[in-house]
Amino acid sequence: MYRGTFAIVDLSAFADNLRLLAKKLREGTKMLIAVKANAYGHDIGPIMEVIARSGVAQVAVATLEEALTIRKLGFDTPVLILGALGPHELRIASENDIDVIHTQTWGPVQTLGRFERPLKVHIPLDTGMNRVGFKSFEDVRDIVDAVLQRSDLKWQGIYTHLACSDAESDEHSRNQIRIFSERIEQLKRAGYDVPMAHVSNSGGVLRNAEWNFDMVRIGIAAYGYSPDETILPEPGLQPVMHVYSSITRVASVTKGETIGYGATFTASKNMRVATVAIGYADGYPRILSNRGKILLRGVQVPVVGRVCMDQLMIDVSDVPDVRVGEFVTVFGRAVPSDWTPEAWEGTDPEERDGWIKETFQRTRQTTQDVLSLTEIAALAETIPYEVVCGMSSRVPKLHV
Ligand code: PLP
Repeated sequence: MYRGTFAIVDLSAFADNLRLLAKKLREGTKMLIAVKANAYGHDIGPIMEVIARSGVAQVAVATLEEALTIRKLGFDTPVLILGALGPHELRIASENDIDVIHTQTWGPVQTLGRFERPLKVHIPLDTGMNRVGFKSFEDVRDIVDAVLQRSDLKWQGIYTHLACSDAESDEHSRNQIRIFSERIEQLKRAGYDVPMAHVSNSGGVLRNAEWNFDMVRIGIAAYGYSPDETILPEPGLQPVMHVYSSITRVASVTKGETIGYGATFTASKNMRVATVAIGYADGYPRILSNRGKILLRGVQVPVVGRVCMDQLMIDVSDVPDVRVGEFVTVFGRAVPSDWTPEAWEGTDPEERDGWIKETFQRTRQTTQDVLSLTEIAALAETIPYEVVCGMSSRVPKLHV
């Protein structure tokens, strides 16, 4: 650790979130956790270690590469790939005991080569999102028949995805649930024994336990965020990722001077401006130019000028005696008081990881201030999902 820019991934907060979410489920409902996109940017390995000891039934990823990473790390947790695969990839999935969804990229089920190890198949139903799956009962029945006709395919169940589970009105979701329930009834009436049904994402879980079915597929809530905090507040969830950076320059700017690329900010008064060692290549959204906020000693200070690739500038006029080397919160919990420039400089770079983890954990209970990612994401006209997934590999993730 050489640059003072890093993320803390709080695994005990993640484990607490899993426990809290499990309590919200109806008895007997299984929990799948979405770990696609490198566990929503939190690093798949450490997140899988928590999952493997938390009673989670299954995990979901988007790609075969992500699924194989989980296997290569040595986890035998059931994995479901939510993305589309071609016939060649299906064979690799079956060899690695990875569940798949049926998609049009398969071509006709009858023409697939034989799988030596039965391939486990979930059938997607399109109930109102128009992304994947079958709409009519006849189409669902035909694909189920095609799967059942092959001894090397195993029908795992059916599922659908809620498009508006975090919307103000639950009308769209109710309609999707009605269609999904109707398809289950139709299948049952036609003599099919549906092995498993799963629907709810985080929004569905936070909204209505009646939408649990046999399994829920939770993503963002496990990482500590409601999909929409104003509509579905869930105060018990704890953000798992906290991102920090540090100040590399402090300077006076005279009224009339401009700041940054494109000179998009002009000082309307004399100011003190600090440079922070994080930029868009680290995943700090460039749209936060002249819009973002950084937490410095309990004060939310504005980002001034354009966010650069590796740096950004903040107005620190209201914070006295800002020093080079001071740490700031990009989002998440306030900087622990131990993180002084002297302590950082005094710690061997090879041992900084351990020092940061230890001091973060020790001050966990006393540090109350936060700069909420929900707020930052809103300023960036996006959602916490995109910001956490976007924290690049250049930002070391320290797991505590
Ligand atoms: N199920 C499917 C099919 C998904 O694509 C996703 C994520 O996008 C999830 C569940 C988890 O969603 P969320 O993170 O909103 O809980």
